[in-house]
Amino acid sequence: MGIFLCSKSASQRGIQLYGIILPMQPSFFWQGETCEYCGGEIVEKRVTLHRKVKGNYVLIENVPAGVCAKCGTRYYAANVLKTIEESVRGRRHADREVVVPVYAF
Ligand SMILES: [Zn+2]
Repeated sequence: MGIFLCSKSASQRGIQLYGIILPMQPSFFWQGETCEYCGGEIVEKRVTLHRKVKGNYVLIENVPAGVCAKCGTRYYAANVLKTIEESVRGRRHADREVVVPVYAF
């Protein structure tokens, strides 16, 4: 799992992404679980989350989530959410950084 913190660059031409590698979570957490909305089967997938923290956009990639095969509802394990919260609050340091172009409509 990698975390990418985005903030406006000085030039306003790009967003800086700060990446953090997070420890992997155990698999098969969602095996046998069913969706609480439609009763569909929950399968584990790696998804990308986005949050806004103190004015910065944060992308969290490769997050293990339970995804309903029928309606697509996503579920997150408590320890996964805890890891995300701790990471976006700056307790972890970025180990890589990239700049992506931003286009105004
Ligand atoms: Zn469902």
